Amino acid sequence: MDVSSKEFISLANIGLENENLQTTMNQFGANMISRRQQIVQQLPEFDQLRDEARDIKNHTLAHLDLYLEKFEQQVVANGGQVHWASSEAEAKRIIGDICHAKAAKNIIKSKSMVTEELDLAVFLEDQGLETLETDLGEYIIQLRGERPSHIVAPAVHLNKDQVADTFFKHHSQPGDNKKLSTRADLVAEARQILRSHFLAADIGITGANFLVAETGSIILVTNEGNAELTTALPETHIVVTGIEKVIPTLEDAATFIRLLTRSAVGAEISAYTSFITGAKRSADLDGAKNFHVVLVDNGRVDMLGSEFQPMLRCIRCSACLHHCPVYLSVGGHAYGSVYNGPMGAVLTPHLAGVEHAGHLPNASTFCGRCESVCPVRIPLPDLMRFWRNQQTTLKLDKPSVRWALQAWAFIVTRPRLYKIVSALLVRCLAGFTKAGFITRLPSIAGNWTESRDFRKPEQQTFISRWKKGRADV
Ligand code: SF4
Repeated sequence: MDVSSKEFISLANIGLENENLQTTMNQFGANMISRRQQIVQQLPEFDQLRDEARDIKNHTLAHLDLYLEKFEQQVVANGGQVHWASSEAEAKRIIGDICHAKAAKNIIKSKSMVTEELDLAVFLEDQGLETLETDLGEYIIQLRGERPSHIVAPAVHLNKDQVADTFFKHHSQPGDNKKLSTRADLVAEARQILRSHFLAADIGITGANFLVAETGSIILVTNEGNAELTTALPETHIVVTGIEKVIPTLEDAATFIRLLTRSAVGAEISAYTSFITGAKRSADLDGAKNFHVVLVDNGRVDMLGSEFQPMLRCIRCSACLHHCPVYLSVGGHAYGSVYNGPMGAVLTPHLAGVEHAGHLPNASTFCGRCESVCPVRIPLPDLMRFWRNQQTTLKLDKPSVRWALQAWAFIVTRPRLYKIVSALLVRCLAGFTKAGFITRLPSIAGNWTESRDFRKPEQQTFISRWKKGRADV
């Protein structure tokens, strides 16, 4: 996985200074939060479903080998093949071999975070295989040579005019001088261009939202229908998915589907929810003759039994992104990873190494909103805290930060000393106050005032006010 998370601070500053991004993300965040709130209020058993989903995932993870083997047996019984890939390199080799064995030239893809994790499209292009993204957002960023900035809406960082510019640059013919101006026209143009690729494709590659062990089905939850064309039109369908996507039964799937779309887009259900069970049978009207499932580990097995096992419950709904004030401020590209927001702040250090992605778990206010909306109740702040602890233990953070934290720990674990120091601090801060605000602090504390002003502190500590028994404490 290609990450540039070490650049988080400079990338975040670029995001903060990008006016288009700020407007787009403000509107997007407000919209998604209110849509989720409204739809959740209409389902009184929503929290009960969250508990059920967490328990189903915990049970499945405790017996992951059995459920994956059951899934494989069912896929084979339905005329498909299952391939096991322990690493990114192995997954790419398997997919490349299938494509070459079919003498494929044209490949179409629907959106899949695992294929993003593997940088699969770049690999296939390097193998001489023309690979086209068919999800509208993925198609737009493919044209622009960008990576997704969101796990469900990959082009969320762009507004309509930017998309119109991109389409004009890539689609216009000599003599064309008018850019499209409406969303409907942009969608129609993309649809027209993509349609011929669907018809010419040799192989369709998708991910999977869920894998059902009892039937060997893969479930795709989409809104555009492009994934359905990707699975149905080419002769060969390759599903590339993480091993953690398996769930035991179709009944369990119903629980997750009810949670997924409400959490992801604030809707009761998506436009398309497809269950694909094996290769095309003689009586089927459509479907792929050759059905392959590539089950990717790529670090997931290492999470089993570790502090990070709860992260394997993630259903990639993006609710934590929509409720994260840091993600909504800096945008997804700042994270330098295909996984961004709070879930990316936990997952990326695991997949890429904390030494390459240490900024991400620090990019959190620890407000706890991510955990409070997660449909499978992943304790995201605790897991980020674990990474912060690791950074200090491995001495990956700056010495000045470590010393400051050691000094802080020394003071707060000695109540008398804490009282003296906090009383002194309140007085000292008065010296930095101008017109009721602190606008500049020295040394490492200057990071806090670089982009915000603080109100002047009260001239007493909390403890002294408490002692005086003031009513407003
Ligand atoms: S961590 Fe939870 S809220 Fe975030 S994407 Fe995963 S399932 Fe959704």
